[in-house]
Amino acid sequence: MRLSEDDKNWLTTRFEGSIKFDEPMSKHTSLRVGGPVEVFAIPDTLEELMVLVEWAWKKEIPYLTVGGGTNLLVTDNGVHGIILLLTHCLNKITSSGKDNGREWVTAAAGVKLAAFCRYAIENGLSGTNFALGIPGTIGGAIMMNAGTVLGSMTDILETVTVYQPERGMHKLGKAHLDFGYRSLSLEKVCNPSHGLPIVLEGCFRLHREDPYRLQQEGHGILLERREREPNRYPSAGSFFKNPESGKTAGELIDSAGLKGRQIGGAEISSKHANYIVNRKNATAGDILSLMKLIQETVLERFGISLEPEVKIIGD
Ligand SMILES: Cc1cc2nc3c(=O)[nH]c(=O)nc-3n(C[C@H](O)[C@H](O)[C@H](O)COP(=O)(O)OP(=O)(O)OC[C@H]3O[C@@H](n4cnc5c(N)ncnc54)[C@H](O)[C@@H]3O)c2cc1C
Repeated sequence: MRLSEDDKNWLTTRFEGSIKFDEPMSKHTSLRVGGPVEVFAIPDTLEELMVLVEWAWKKEIPYLTVGGGTNLLVTDNGVHGIILLLTHCLNKITSSGKDNGREWVTAAAGVKLAAFCRYAIENGLSGTNFALGIPGTIGGAIMMNAGTVLGSMTDILETVTVYQPERGMHKLGKAHLDFGYRSLSLEKVCNPSHGLPIVLEGCFRLHREDPYRLQQEGHGILLERREREPNRYPSAGSFFKNPESGKTAGELIDSAGLKGRQIGGAEISSKHANYIVNRKNATAGDILSLMKLIQETVLERFGISLEPEVKIIGD
């Protein structure tokens, strides 16, 4: 069911300035592909966010929260319903307490991960340097359990506050969070019948450290990333999850001889085989075709099914 004219009129009257209709998602994803979403909303306040989500929930209009769109592939047909971006309404970092060289810091979902890392370094707090160079927001990083070989969000996260239209806001301790490799499943703790959970903020436990040492370490991490990462063309970072053991996804794709392979404007990076890059005006269809080619070839050659790390959404 598409939004009616009445729905659109209500949205325009209630949220003027915070919403756009038929907004191309290519503007909001790091891959720079994706068709239009019916409603793209950037609520100004938490209250506005809740009013909008409750309205959508009651009307059975699907809604989805995104962050930087750096792990998203939106199909060319676009998305039905509402996409929410929290960068205006949830963008604060606050210290929530100190004790014996530890400090708890709360970061709202719309805060950029880079800003959070910078805050930690400037305030002499260790624990976040693993995330240096990972684009996107706190909300996206929590949902993806973003990380590298140096660590991941689960190492520093203490609590997550989520919102569901039927249940309101609730805080979840780490012990209740089902983190996996590049994933967080909230299904067991956030009954889906209460609405799709939206991460509002995370509280992180960090440790006191010399800011100069943190800065030096961070500098090295960023330099190393720059060497390794194909950053000339738009991408979503590593496209596939690494298998639990054996070769990495990149090594498998490379061994299958697929580096540099192109479909339309999309290319398997010749610098890092687990990156699919938008080389020249690629469509989501081009990227999905390359994804399929990789999966089929790797399965045929090595008997391994590669699972996308990138979230694919759209009709
Ligand atoms: C160049 C490049 C390098 C990268 N390197 C790394 C890396 O080293 N390690 C790594 O782990 N990842 C990496 N990534 C992938 C990506 O940056 C991370 O997964 C990042 O944490 C995603 O954050 P985001 O805000 O962009 O989330 P999005 O891509 O916008 O969303 C990701 C998922 O989270 C959901 N989501 C987002 N915000 C919320 C919220 N508030 N509430 C509920 N659900 C939400 C979305 O619906 C979606 O399912 C890289 C990407 C790029 C482009």
